Amino acid sequence: MVNFDDLDTDPLTSAPVPVVTAAEIRAAAHMQNGGDATFDCPKCGGSGVWRGGRAVRPCFSCKGIGKVSKGVVAAAKGRVTRAANLAADKAAFEAANPDLMKGLREIAGWHRFAGELLSKFEQYGELTAGQVNAALNTLAEVKRKREEKAAARALETADRSGEVGVERINALFATAMESGLKKPLFRTERLTIKPAKLHPGTLYVTDKAAGGEYVGKIVNGQFMARREAAPDTLALLCAIAADPLKAATDYGRSTGVCGCCGRELTDPDSVEAGIGPICATKWGL
Ligand SMILES: [Zn+2]
Ligand SMILES: [Zn+2]
Repeated sequence: MVNFDDLDTDPLTSAPVPVVTAAEIRAAAHMQNGGDATFDCPKCGGSGVWRGGRAVRPCFSCKGIGKVSKGVVAAAKGRVTRAANLAADKAAFEAANPDLMKGLREIAGWHRFAGELLSKFEQYGELTAGQVNAALNTLAEVKRKREEKAAARALETADRSGEVGVERINALFATAMESGLKKPLFRTERLTIKPAKLHPGTLYVTDKAAGGEYVGKIVNGQFMARREAAPDTLALLCAIAADPLKAATDYGRSTGVCGCCGRELTDPDSVEAGIGPICATKWGL
C-alpha cells in the first residue's frame, strides 16, 4: 500500500522534475555514438592545439577537440581546391597574355581602369574577352598619348638638338672603363657627361648653368635637348666632342680639380697641365 506521506507533492518543497526535450535526447545519443565530430580537424591536424610562433592555444576551428564534422573537412578541402584552381587559371592567363598583363601593371598605379582590371584578374584568375579588348584599347591609347607628348617635346626643343660627333667621347669612356672605372664621369667647365648605365650607347648631359640639371642625352650621335637646355648647349657639346683633352684641361686649370676624377690637383705639374697624370693615362688623354 502506498504511504502517502512519502509522496512530496508540495510545489514549494519538492525537487523540480528535470525536463529534457526530444532534441536534447537525440543530440546526446548522437554524441554518445561519436557524433559528427569524427574527422581530424584540418586546421590543427587533430591535435586540438594551435601553435603560432610561441603562442599555443586551443584550436578555434574545432574548439580544441581536434575533431570536426565531415562538412567542415569538405569545406576546408574546397577552399584549398578553389585556391589551387585560381592559381592555375592565373598562371595560364599570364602565360597566354604576358604583354597585356605587363602593360596593365605598368600603368595600374595611376590608371584607375587598369587597376580595376587587375583586381578582376586577381579575383577570377582571368579576364573575359570583353575585358581583354578593353585592356588592349586602353594600352594603345596610353601609348599613343605618350608618343604624342614625346613628339611635342622633341618639336619644342628641336632648335637646341642636333648632331654631335661623339667618336672621341665614346673612345674616352671606353678607355676609362677598360681601365677599371665603374662610373666614369667627364667634367668640363659647364657640362658634365656620363654614360647611361642601363642604356649602352647613350650619354647623359648635365649643365652647371642650369643648376646642375639634366639637360639632355646623346643617342647615336644625336643630342636630344630637354626644355632645361640652354641654346648654346649643343655648340658646347660639339666643342667638347671635337677636343676632349682641351675641355678636360681647361676645366682643370680653371677649377684646380681634375675633370676625370673630381680630385683636387695638388702636384704643380698637374695644376699646370690641368689634369692628373694617372687620369690622363686611364682615360687615354
Ligand atoms: Zn582544430
Ligand atoms: Zn683625376
